[in-house]
Amino acid sequence: MRVSHNNLLLFALFAGAIVLPTAILSILSFRNIQNEIFLAQKTFDENRASFQTEVENAIEKEQNKILQETKAASLFLYGQPHSLLDFGNATTYRTVDGVEAMFLFNKGSLVYPDISSRHFIKASNYSTSIPNPIEKQLFKDEINGKDYNAAVLSRSIRLMQSPFETIDDQVQNILGLIRLSYRHKNYDEALRLLELLERQPRPQGYLHADLTRSINLLHFDILVEQKKHQEAEDYCLNILGQFLHSESIEDIPSAKFFFESAFTQILSFEDLPNDKREAFWNLRENFNRQISDMDILYRHKELFDETITDEAQSKEGVLYKSNGDITLFKIGYPLLSGDQIVIAKIDPEAYKSRILSKLSATVKSWKNIPFSITDASDAVIMGAIPDTAIVLSQTNIGQSLQWDLTLYEKDMREIRKESRQRMFLMYGLLTFSLITVLLGSIFMFRFIIQEHKLLAMKANFLSSVSHELKTPLTSIKMFAETMARGRVQKVEKIQEYSSLIGKEATRLENLIGAILNYTRMEHGRGAFKWEKIDFSACAKKVYESMYDIGVEKGLTFHTRFEPEAYVIGDYTALYSLAQNLIENAIKYTNAPGDITIEVYNSDERATFSVADTGIGIAGSEQKNIFNNFYRVGDEMTRSTKGSGLGLAIVKRVVETHKATISLSSKLGKGSTFTVRFKKVE
Ligand code: ADP
Repeated sequence: MRVSHNNLLLFALFAGAIVLPTAILSILSFRNIQNEIFLAQKTFDENRASFQTEVENAIEKEQNKILQETKAASLFLYGQPHSLLDFGNATTYRTVDGVEAMFLFNKGSLVYPDISSRHFIKASNYSTSIPNPIEKQLFKDEINGKDYNAAVLSRSIRLMQSPFETIDDQVQNILGLIRLSYRHKNYDEALRLLELLERQPRPQGYLHADLTRSINLLHFDILVEQKKHQEAEDYCLNILGQFLHSESIEDIPSAKFFFESAFTQILSFEDLPNDKREAFWNLRENFNRQISDMDILYRHKELFDETITDEAQSKEGVLYKSNGDITLFKIGYPLLSGDQIVIAKIDPEAYKSRILSKLSATVKSWKNIPFSITDASDAVIMGAIPDTAIVLSQTNIGQSLQWDLTLYEKDMREIRKESRQRMFLMYGLLTFSLITVLLGSIFMFRFIIQEHKLLAMKANFLSSVSHELKTPLTSIKMFAETMARGRVQKVEKIQEYSSLIGKEATRLENLIGAILNYTRMEHGRGAFKWEKIDFSACAKKVYESMYDIGVEKGLTFHTRFEPEAYVIGDYTALYSLAQNLIENAIKYTNAPGDITIEVYNSDERATFSVADTGIGIAGSEQKNIFNNFYRVGDEMTRSTKGSGLGLAIVKRVVETHKATISLSSKLGKGSTFTVRFKKVE
């Protein structure tokens, strides 16, 4: 490849405009990445401070939101039922996610929940009663199957022996009889005895609260068993009325159990009218909620007392209080007006997950800060403790949450790793773009050089064509002029000159034919007339027309024309293909030499081959000789007339006929051109 001045200029331009800027750019980027590492270290400290503030703000914001929601929901506490009649009505109650129960006080007394014991603060200690050992023994004896009649007899005798020494003895006896009657389905007797017992002034200390409820439940069950539904409902409401009006509550779990079972059974009565069903439904809802809240109040009475009386309240009117078991928050003035106080019991799990979900949204935008949030039991609830944990700071976050936010030193290896990755990526991209630019440039150069060559060849062709055209014309002109002047007298001479004029004219015709042929091929398939052709016949015709020229030159022909080598093609084009190959074989073979022309069928193919024992073609030239106007620059070619179009025409014909051409040649030994067509039957 020869490099001209123009090409040198292009190279210089390429280096100046592409390679140099790319190199400068990569150096600058490298320095930039180095700077980034330092910058990352510096900004990390600032980010850490902002991160902590954001975490604290997010928690505070969510906690405030819960407070506001509780305040809004507390308004509905005023509308909760107070009297037995209200309990049957549907009420609106609003819950707050993260809050298990709410309690409303006004001027120090309880407004909600309003189930008995309005004097909550003064109420006696709440305790769960334990079954009496005597009662247990009695119960066991009966289970063990004492004879019913014998037992009744013995108890009756004991009853008749009254007055009993103690009231306990009397109650025990009645209880035993009730149980016996109930077990033997003697319901009327059991009811009679139950009423007797229920009418007794309650012997405190023996007929304790849960025993009272079991008596109630037994009474209720017997009524249901006897299908006295109306009486059962009245009985249940009567007990509820008593319960709501009692001064203080003694055993909430047993009361809850009694009412829950009674309400459920009543709701399952098929004969219950719809309005009543609705009322009992509401009753159950309202009662359950209030008694559950009451239960909380009693269980944690001490903490509630402390919270109510604690004056230390933030200026926002909020106070968090915890006893290690539960956490309450109180809201009062100025968040609430007047003497209102709302105390809420936090639902630990819901409260935690509500705050954490808000927090995780905040934390998401801070990917590179190593941190952990731990709860009171030191369990990690967010973030992670890094392997190489150098603690930078630890702060308690969130009101009453007992959470710790710990920030750790950033691992510099990580920063470096990130920068390195970015650097690799950048270098990868740079290398890729450089390769692309290089390849593009190489293609461009090759294209330019090819174009140059083509132009040179065309110019060469034009000059050789005009020369070729001029030579025969000059001869024709010379002979014609000589004869016109009448200087040639002899008939033999006139014949000789005329035949020379004819020969030169034929050469001219051939040359012009080749040029026309070439231009025709250039226009491609459209100009062809497609038909089924016996290629053997076609090639044979070409061979016959050239036979004399070959023999005259001292060459020997060998041929094989197998019949019925049918192909689809354009006759003129195929003729020209055969003509060019045979003509070249003759042209480039010195005498004595052999030329073998063959057409034969093999499988699906019709094969045409022309072999000569001529000058051969060097390996490096073989790919060029099919190019337009290309002629090998050796001595023999130069001394042989030609246009460099022959094989270009052959190649076009092969392409348009979807055939293949191959060449095997050795310099000084000869060449074989083989064309394979798709055969048709
Ligand atoms: P030309 O008109 O010069 O023969 P072609 O396109 O037919 O043009 O051939 C291109 C070149 O290939 C020729 O100039 C010649 O150097 C070489 N060539 C073609 N056929 C043969 C052959 N059978 N033996 C040796 N050289 C050949």
